[in-house]
Parts: sequence; structure tokens; C-alpha cells
Amino acid sequence: MRKTQGDCLFCKIASGEAKVPFVYEDEHVVAFDDISPKAAVHTLIVPKEHIENLNDEPSSELLSNVFGAVPAVAHIKGIDETGYRIIQNNGDDARQTVHHLHVHMQGGEQLPE
Ligand code: 5GP
Ligand code: ZN
Repeated sequence: MRKTQGDCLFCKIASGEAKVPFVYEDEHVVAFDDISPKAAVHTLIVPKEHIENLNDEPSSELLSNVFGAVPAVAHIKGIDETGYRIIQNNGDDARQTVHHLHVHMQGGEQLPE
């Protein structure tokens, strides 16, 4: 049984309970477009297992599942050749608003410095 948290938005999205269209899905990870995009392409890559952030010491397997999906998601979004930025926020000062580990993939245009 995979660890999830009942009141967590990204657990609900990743399990399919909240009907958000996936850009990508595999056994361990889903990706979907950010509801409030900060770039022409802004997609979130989210492990199905609930973990808050890096302070919770995710296993190397979980991290490799998340980062291992990056090239496939970039390819699907059509930005693998043009380039993209990966951002991952931890805690209040970083403005982490959803407390389920995720990485932001941004691209599709020249990003700010
Ligand atoms: P954080 O600030 O925690 O790193 O990023 C959370 C991201 O989740 C934000 O960019 C926000 O726009 C996005 N987000 C929050 N709620 C939803 C939602 O219901 N659906 C989708 N697709 N994105 C969401
Ligand atoms: Zn969660």
C-alpha cells in the first residue's frame, strides 16, 4: 500500500481522485500542467507516494523516479531540445504552498535570468 495523505491535494490528483489530465504517468510518478503557469510551459512532476519535501529524506529510489521522468515529460511537452528549468521548493521561505514533494518544469520560451 502506497503512502498517501487524505487531505493532500497532490495525493488526490496523483491517485486520479481529482480529475486533472495527466501529461505523463508511470507506476511511480504523474505529471500535469500547473493551474497557474509561470512560463509558456509549466508542468509539475509529482511522486504518487506522499512525502512533504526534501527534509523528509526521500529515498534515492523516489528521487530517481521523479528525476528519471524529467526527459520523458520534457519530450512530451516539446521542450527537450529547446531547454527547460527544474525548480523544487522546500518550506515557507521558498514559498512551498503544496506540501507534497514536486518539481516544477518550466520552458517553452526564454526564461528570466
Ligand atoms: P509550490 O509553490 O508548492 O512549489 O508549487 C505548487 C504549485 O501547484 C503552484 O505553482 C500552483 O499553481 C500549483 N497548483 C496548486 N493547486 C493546483 C491545482 O489544483 N491544480 C494544478 N494543476 N496545479 C495546482
Ligand atoms: Zn500528498
